Amino acid sequence: MVISMSRVIIIGCGGVSKVAIHKCCQLDDVFTDLCIASRTVSKCDDVKKELEGKTKTNITTKQIDANDFDALVKLFNEFKPEIVMNLGMPYQNLIIMDACLEYGCHYLDTACYEPEDVNEPVWRARYEKRVKEKNFTAYFDYSYQWEYRKKFEEKGLIALLGCGFDPGVTQAYVAYAKKHEFDRIDTLDILDCNGGDHGYPFATNFNPEINLREVSSDGAYYENGKWIKVPAMSIKREYNFDGVGMKDMYLLHHEEIESIALNYPEIKRIRFYMTFGESYLRHMNCLENVGLLSTKAIDYKGTKIVPIQFLKELLPDPSTLGPRTHGKTNIGCIFTGVKNGKEKKYYIYNMCDHQESYHEVGSQAVSYTTGVPAMCGALMILKGYWNTPGAKTVEEFNPDPFIEALDKYGLPKTESYDPIMVD
Ligand code: NDP
Repeated sequence: MVISMSRVIIIGCGGVSKVAIHKCCQLDDVFTDLCIASRTVSKCDDVKKELEGKTKTNITTKQIDANDFDALVKLFNEFKPEIVMNLGMPYQNLIIMDACLEYGCHYLDTACYEPEDVNEPVWRARYEKRVKEKNFTAYFDYSYQWEYRKKFEEKGLIALLGCGFDPGVTQAYVAYAKKHEFDRIDTLDILDCNGGDHGYPFATNFNPEINLREVSSDGAYYENGKWIKVPAMSIKREYNFDGVGMKDMYLLHHEEIESIALNYPEIKRIRFYMTFGESYLRHMNCLENVGLLSTKAIDYKGTKIVPIQFLKELLPDPSTLGPRTHGKTNIGCIFTGVKNGKEKKYYIYNMCDHQESYHEVGSQAVSYTTGVPAMCGALMILKGYWNTPGAKTVEEFNPDPFIEALDKYGLPKTESYDPIMVD
């Protein structure tokens, strides 16, 4: 079914949301009514003002605490959205999914659920069990959101999980490679390069809390049905990225490995690498050593402070990095496998320029490469291209219309059949 007009709520109004809002407003014949709802409503009002006179989309704004289930359901009942795009924090994924089920609308996010307090006893007990059984130590894991599969199926609704670039587009690349390039995929390396320079000694390109939690955790990759755990930043490679040049990259655990391993069990090895500069790593190590990356609340003169949240307040807001960031990102997937009985290699990636993103939507490329896929994912659901109900990750859907939309709306793919391999 093709929807000619649609009502959409975006939760959160940070770097990623701002891009998604701009992109939705560029498609104002589809995204006719948009409600921006976030904790600090003045940020929503500022974006609305920026877009005044530039779009036919009707924009409303609303203050919301996404931890408040009743307030979410009330807002959904008032606004009557077809889809809620959760572009705030992953801590609230489950509560927003519950509210979508209660009201009866589709759901989308860009990051896998993880708890705000990793010392909460019930969550911790399940976590410790998983670590023991699977050697899987990341704080995020899809099992919590996959438990919603049946509930969304029964209501005929879609919960589209992790629809940014990575996770998100990287999984569409896997589905695309399998559909068009391979009979069997053997190995996959996901490479995420940010060749951008913002001029600060230390700043993160997306939410500092989520970014620093991810980067300071153990690394892991998936091989022959097992998680192989390695100390954080202990596997380093150099790679010559198209549009960027030579960069150091480090093996990280990343959320899409879990869902790709489940949905494509034929892939024998899945690894994820991200580039980091020396200054970033030096600062991160130092902050970790002094305890500023801790998620455990401490008492400071009678006030409870979570060190990593305090640090976030001190660091530059990623949504303000746009004007000062120069260079490109390059994110993609390198595959080996077999087609028509012959072994082959294939690399599919996107390059995105920080300044071009800034001039188009006022944000740097890390927000752009996340906000554009979020808009395209919502578009797939609203246009009915993706219509199988359930709580699903991107690789579970037909990649073709999504990749076509990415090509059209700002994140075109580049392909290579003779890539340099990562050893
Ligand atoms: P920001 O910190 O810039 O923005 C987060 C927004 O959520 C802020 O506006 C914040 O409000 C709002 N928010 C936080 N808590 C609540 C709450 N309880 N109720 C309502 N609103 C709330 O983050 P980013 O835009 O950089 O990142 C957004 C998401 O995208 C994150 O989950 C991140 O992990 C994910 N991401 C995914 C990527 C991918 O490729 N898949 C890549 C990059 C990011 P306030 O303004 O008051 O602080």
